[in-house]
Amino acid sequence: MATALVTGSSRGIGAAIALRLADDGFDIALNDLNEDMFRDNDIVEKIREKGVKCEYFCADVSDYAQCEEMVGKVKDFFMSIDVLVNNAGITRDGLMARMSEEQYDMVINVNQKSVFNMMKHAGKIMMKQRSGKIINVASVAGLYGNPGQINYSASKAAIIGMTKTIAKELGSRGINVNAVAPGFIKTPMTDKLSEEQKSAIMNLIAMKRYGLPEEIAGVVSFLASKDSSYVTGQVIEISGGLSM
Ligand code: NAP
Repeated sequence: MATALVTGSSRGIGAAIALRLADDGFDIALNDLNEDMFRDNDIVEKIREKGVKCEYFCADVSDYAQCEEMVGKVKDFFMSIDVLVNNAGITRDGLMARMSEEQYDMVINVNQKSVFNMMKHAGKIMMKQRSGKIINVASVAGLYGNPGQINYSASKAAIIGMTKTIAKELGSRGINVNAVAPGFIKTPMTDKLSEEQKSAIMNLIAMKRYGLPEEIAGVVSFLASKDSSYVTGQVIEISGGLSM
């Protein structure tokens, strides 16, 4: 049985991706910062009910050593890591003039450095296997910029560059590396935006609705499947036509 490791997967887009990959037949390694997140919801049970193995592994993905330890534990438990989805991410929004150095560094570390940490450690295992799929969750903010998000858009633009670079480095080893760039998706991350911000975004969306976490999970499912075996280094925008 193939194994998928999804970071930041106790809720939101990460949880939807984990559920979808379980439907696709993957055993699932979940990750989040702390155990409470898994005690407070039934994601582990929901995945096990689908007939696949599921365990959670707590680690701060911005921490290099914690990622190394987690990847080792996932490999020991499941025997392989076939799909890595780098989904964990945070926002600490503010106009540049008011943004603190801490706000900037925190978002870069959690959203961007985490992708280096995880690709480095899980990539080693995939290189030995000579197969693997890495899917990084970027954002339209990384493609087009967004006022109030210099930290977030920098981290997401970096993820796109990292995706293309590592696709080139690992392609000959049978490893596909791609990114998805969601637009406005209804999750706890976007629930905290003001009504004014939400309606400004809605005006830009061709489909005139927000996306659902399951609509990101569907594209990730394709990128994790054999159907995308000749797709690498690509960024798929999933935004309901935000950028046309
Ligand atoms: P969310 O609901 O806030 O979930 C993010 C998850 O990441 C949470 O489970 C969170 O855990 C976890 N996390 C945060 N910091 C972590 C760390 N240091 N180590 C491990 N896990 C950590 O966000 P979402 O909306 O589902 O977003 C998921 C991804 O999609 C993010 O990368 C986000 O940038 C991207 N995205 C979202 C949208 C959108 O519209 N929602 C649009 C574009 C891109 P805690 O609960 O413990 O904080």
